[in-house]
Amino acid sequence: MSKKNQDKLLIFSLGGVGEIGKNMYCVQYGNDIVVVDSGLKFPEEDMLGVDIVIPDITYLTENRDKVRGILITHGHEDHIGGLPYVLKSLNVPVYGTKLTLGLIEVKLKEAGLLGETKRVLIHPDSVVQLGSIRASFFRTNHSIPDSVGICLDTPEGTVVITGDFKFDHTPVNGQYADLHRMAEIGSRGVLALLSDSTNAERPGFTPSERKVGQELEDIFRKSRQRVVVATFASNVHRIQQVINAAMATRRKLTVIGRSMVNVVSIASELGYLHIPEGMLVEPEDVGKLPADRVVILCTGSQGEPMSALSRMARSAHKKVDILPGDTVIISATPIPGNERFVGRTIDELFRLGANVIYGPTASSTVHVSGHGSQEELKLMLNLMKPKYFIPVHGEYRMLRQHALLAESVGIEKDRIFLLDIGDTVEIQNGAARKGNKVPSGSVLIDGLGVGDVGNIVLRDRKLLSQDGILVVVVTLSKQDGTILSGPDIISRGFVYVRESEGLMEEATRIVTQTLNKLTNDNVNEWASLKTNVKDVLGRYLYEQTRRRPMILPIIMEV
Ligand SMILES: [Zn+2]
Ligand SMILES: [Zn+2]
Repeated sequence: MSKKNQDKLLIFSLGGVGEIGKNMYCVQYGNDIVVVDSGLKFPEEDMLGVDIVIPDITYLTENRDKVRGILITHGHEDHIGGLPYVLKSLNVPVYGTKLTLGLIEVKLKEAGLLGETKRVLIHPDSVVQLGSIRASFFRTNHSIPDSVGICLDTPEGTVVITGDFKFDHTPVNGQYADLHRMAEIGSRGVLALLSDSTNAERPGFTPSERKVGQELEDIFRKSRQRVVVATFASNVHRIQQVINAAMATRRKLTVIGRSMVNVVSIASELGYLHIPEGMLVEPEDVGKLPADRVVILCTGSQGEPMSALSRMARSAHKKVDILPGDTVIISATPIPGNERFVGRTIDELFRLGANVIYGPTASSTVHVSGHGSQEELKLMLNLMKPKYFIPVHGEYRMLRQHALLAESVGIEKDRIFLLDIGDTVEIQNGAARKGNKVPSGSVLIDGLGVGDVGNIVLRDRKLLSQDGILVVVVTLSKQDGTILSGPDIISRGFVYVRESEGLMEEATRIVTQTLNKLTNDNVNEWASLKTNVKDVLGRYLYEQTRRRPMILPIIMEV
């Protein structure tokens, strides 16, 4: 008879389910919590002025003495971007492979946290004991080198978190996915598997990164002028292939864009990028080279307005212009929400006479995904053979599709858990069920402020952006409450004042009338004066314009 466990195993996500971004998965056994990844998400369109979004980690700060460490699967923003904020309120050790830690250290340095954060370098062969939980790792393929999946042995059983993965049988850097170890973990028995759902809607296999390399070389060879390649700065494999294609076609390379310059320098320093001597040239020197000897590698594959590519497309870059006949390759797919920006950049590049090669029209493969498609997801399920399955890293429909795939390879429906953030799966003595929810949500970060932008601030910003603002300034007499000056109405973003003199005059008259009436009725608390002005004016403006500007009454007494 096996020994009965007193403690429960809890598995939950504080970010990354029901969304793409801000990944954070937690495994708790008794008094030990292990956190996997700590990502950020870029704001949705209705989160005006918010720079980034991170998970709400209230549960972790409330249980800070139990958190044994944060294990990081790989160096993408949606897995490491939240670290500087999380570590500020939760000083625990961070574990990552060489490149992952290198990228994290840049962030910590910027945040002034490098000195006080314990960083532990791991290899795919490392074993780390975190209280009662033992972590080991397996190498995966992804669009950034040094990615690993994580295997957590707990007294209740083994939990595997794949991290982002695909199966690339011809990886660019020769780092093969560790199929043997995955099979071995599976044969020892996996209690629960948390697996990447990004491409669960996509049938078949995701092509090898190497395909892109062949295409790039082809395009470089055919082009008679300069070639510009825009891609994600973190896609080190892609950058290496650009370098290889440049070498094969005897072109020099220049790198533009802050994050691209950063990654190229860290990755080559750590040995993940190999740049032949003499290949790099400064951006200001490309003009001196023959056009067919130049490759420009830059940021801006998402059409970000301030990025290098967008600036070049607007002819607003200080050092490099796009010339008619240049070839521009956009070696990425737009993240949902960015399509419009990317589209605008492509339009501008075409207007400048460039030959633009991008997603839907490319007869060639200038980009492949870093996430496995359906057949690869099934392969992972079959390697791990989990008792319970929790699809993660995806919007709800992707999680759902992944669940269907799991059913198709024989995992029973009632052993698959579709979670929202904060939902827990509780496992005790082999039996799993949905447990209590833990506190969870999103923390919005606006500039330097963490979490000081709430729903009310967002609602105000939305109002301001749509219907503008009206400030009503009036001075009342302290003695009898009569109007001494004003009301003056100042508006921004509401109506074009010069063409709306009638409307503004009437608005002023209405405010005066309202205040006079209130004075006569002996109403003199500021709060009710303000509310009345707001209500009456709001109603009038809505009747006239069908808009609801924000109304800000400022009442002064002298
Ligand atoms: Zn990733
Ligand atoms: Zn990811």
